[in-house]
Amino acid sequence: MYNVNKVRADFPILSREVYGKPLVYLDNGATTQKPRQVVEAMVDEYYNVNANVHRGVHFLSQQATDLHEASREVVRAFIHARSTNEIIFTRGTTESINLLAFSLGEAMVKEGDEVVVSAMEHHSNIVPWQMMCERKGALLRVIPMTDEGELQLDALEELLTERTRIVCCTQVSNVLGTVNPVKEIVRMAHDKGIPVLVDGAQSVPHMQVDMQDLDCDFFAFSGHKVYGPTGVGVLYGKEAWLEKLPPYQGGGEMIKNVTFQKTTYNALPYKFEAGTPDYVATHALAKALNYVNDLGMENIEAHERELTLYALEQLQRIEGMRIIGRARQHDAVISFLVGDIHHLDMGTLLDRLGIAVRTGHHCAEPLMRRLGIEGTVRASFSLYNTKEEVDVLVDGIERIRKMF
Ligand code: PLP
Repeated sequence: MYNVNKVRADFPILSREVYGKPLVYLDNGATTQKPRQVVEAMVDEYYNVNANVHRGVHFLSQQATDLHEASREVVRAFIHARSTNEIIFTRGTTESINLLAFSLGEAMVKEGDEVVVSAMEHHSNIVPWQMMCERKGALLRVIPMTDEGELQLDALEELLTERTRIVCCTQVSNVLGTVNPVKEIVRMAHDKGIPVLVDGAQSVPHMQVDMQDLDCDFFAFSGHKVYGPTGVGVLYGKEAWLEKLPPYQGGGEMIKNVTFQKTTYNALPYKFEAGTPDYVATHALAKALNYVNDLGMENIEAHERELTLYALEQLQRIEGMRIIGRARQHDAVISFLVGDIHHLDMGTLLDRLGIAVRTGHHCAEPLMRRLGIEGTVRASFSLYNTKEEVDVLVDGIERIRKMF
């Protein structure tokens, strides 16, 4: 049985108050809170193990290297990749996508080529591609979506041509909560020999992801959204692809030999990991993924599904409530507007009641433009949220609505 109160006891921050009110943290799409197990692993490593990885023969360096490389294996198993060579540690989803956009752009994008992204991407999965397209004289094409917030796959079929170099799509929208049919998108792109990047920033914390089942070529996610520390993330890439791409940054660790005339590059995954990695964070990320494993992703999914359905049901009872994002496959993110109350006013007043939600464009300005709105209020749920917290949110919105 999933015991949410026992889970909450692992997250000290959840028992604090803000403005004299118990904190109701519903901004998990932005970042999740950290369990003791993660924070304690970081403190323990700094107190007892700390040494730079890969470069030392001494005891501590070996131990830190072992922890760092064991973490790579935890990540591999968590996303069911074939090999640890396919797991590149980065600073987060954003850096993962920048790395890929740069390296893939260098390797295979020419003037007149095209990159396909979806209408509901986070800026992190638009801007790096746009920058690369500008550099290379390539074009960005967009998969359209319906008013409900579902991608139009028939339109994608037409966007995939011999000029398409990659398709980039989020698995779960950070605004609409839509769960996109990425497996189907991968199949469609692969039929035409086109690789696919899946942005997993909002899916990894909420559902089992399986690289071999999805069959995507690249996949990016952030540690801090899955109960891990900030400053660490992952780029997964199929080995055959990563072998073909040039490095993103130069420096230590990514080299085999250096002379002033020429540098040869290290083997995977180190070719893409220039400089000292955040080895304390990688170790803590592994602790976070193990924490999720111990709870069981299927239990987390069931808990969050129940919570999201409950929240949707309760929120819809509020007069003037407009839920933004009505996809049939919906994850633990709910965006909304109430009457003509500005999202910022709603967010600010909820905050005074101790409720942390996000307001604004959620780093998805093109999506806001498509929806014809400036922003939304977003409540995003996590493994430690409760129905009582949903009730506090609903009561809070009701109070604010009556004030207006
Ligand atoms: N992609 C999506 C779908 C996101 O929701 C986010 C963060 O909100 C990102 C990318 C960027 O993640 P990060 O800021 O951790 O790099």
